[in-house]
Amino acid sequence: MRSAPSYDNADLRRLDVAHHLPPQQDWALQKNSGGSRIIVKGEDSTIWDAEGNAILDAMAGLWCVQVGYGRREMAEAAFAQMSELPFYNSFFRTAAPPTIALASRIAGLLGGSLQHVFFNNSGSEAVDTLVRTARYYWQARGEPQRSVIIGRKNGYHGSTIGGVSMGGMVSMHNQGGPWVPDHEHVMQPYSFEEQRPDEDEDMFAERAARAIEDKLLEVGPERVAMIFGEPVQGAGGVIIPPRGYWSRVEEIARKYGVLLGCDEVICGYGRLGEWFGFQHFGVKPDLVSMAKGLSSGYLPISATAMADHVVETIREANAPFVHGYTYSGHPTSAAVALANIDIIEREGLVDRTKNDTGPYLAKALQSLADHPLVGEVRSLGLLGAIEIVSEKGTSSRFGNKPGLAGAMIRDACIERGLMLRAVKDTLVMSPPLVITHDEIDRIAMIVRESLDACE
Ligand code: PLP
Repeated sequence: MRSAPSYDNADLRRLDVAHHLPPQQDWALQKNSGGSRIIVKGEDSTIWDAEGNAILDAMAGLWCVQVGYGRREMAEAAFAQMSELPFYNSFFRTAAPPTIALASRIAGLLGGSLQHVFFNNSGSEAVDTLVRTARYYWQARGEPQRSVIIGRKNGYHGSTIGGVSMGGMVSMHNQGGPWVPDHEHVMQPYSFEEQRPDEDEDMFAERAARAIEDKLLEVGPERVAMIFGEPVQGAGGVIIPPRGYWSRVEEIARKYGVLLGCDEVICGYGRLGEWFGFQHFGVKPDLVSMAKGLSSGYLPISATAMADHVVETIREANAPFVHGYTYSGHPTSAAVALANIDIIEREGLVDRTKNDTGPYLAKALQSLADHPLVGEVRSLGLLGAIEIVSEKGTSSRFGNKPGLAGAMIRDACIERGLMLRAVKDTLVMSPPLVITHDEIDRIAMIVRESLDACE
């Protein structure tokens, strides 16, 4: 293991408060706590802060570092491409070799009719591209009134104005709106909080899917462009839908002839034990957004995949799709993403998640289920969640400030050298796909110690 280079932690924290505004954070808290924790190094599943503390990163950064930190091969791919052609894009019938190679590689992983790939830089942009594509598709088909997108409450689809509108996060809608019109959000398939005592899993799946159909009928099917959602809602709290939910949603999309879109920004690239989450749930979307695990976060790149019939319709319209970014298909990011896919394939990380580390994590989390503060544990592949409750056997939370208990336990974990997140009172985790059994044991051990400490 390399030793951490030394940094002037105090000075960096002072400059952080003075000049740096961190994303998705409370800037007052940043200031009052004397600045951000400075992370200086990563190797495999471990990161180090500027004080030399080693932290097991059970979040893989932001749900993205599938192949773990410190992969020389990724740096070499970037170096080689930068030396040859760091960047080129002209918006005029040019493309670079790694960009084309990556599109073709992704098409192979997606399979079926999802054979066309448009590149962007971030997950939010992939979602923006996806919604513009869906609406443009209907315009090209002579049905421009089909502009409504139906998503789920508490879904997360990014931070651009398009992404926030697609998402169902009320706190984000409340800041700086108004947002893009024609977005509807229905109940999430969150059994821990929303399943009724008289419902079994199938009944709950049916009610949650029917909420989509009801909304579609309320809006008028002739106005709906697409049903859109994350296979498992990640940032909303690792909400694993009940059995049968996604096939019912697909059935509804087909029944009314609307497009089906999947946001694979978190679920894609092996996280659920298949290359993509829709493959786990056995559905066939028309549009797919992806980012994060596509390059394991080593460089920014995202993609929007489109089915043959979508692209054929747009091609038949014979007009340019006036959409794209300077860095769409950035050659260096594409070269790094190719190296990332090479590693995932060579090391069998998708299969390992499905048959080895995923089940191992499930067992480790299950060992926490008896704790008095734990209301439920759940996981799928290498996505996991622990519900914190005030009364065992119920879904009641502590006090009248949701999230306080979750934040306390999360902070206790971080103090003990484990990075995970709290979504209100749900602890969530998404470790690198290279996580080992010993490290998973350590996750469970530190979570238990932290729960004990906060009891
Ligand atoms: N979609 C989903 C499902 C996400 O989880 C995220 C980010 O967490 C995004 C979109 C936005 O991605 P980015 O932060 O790269 O813009």
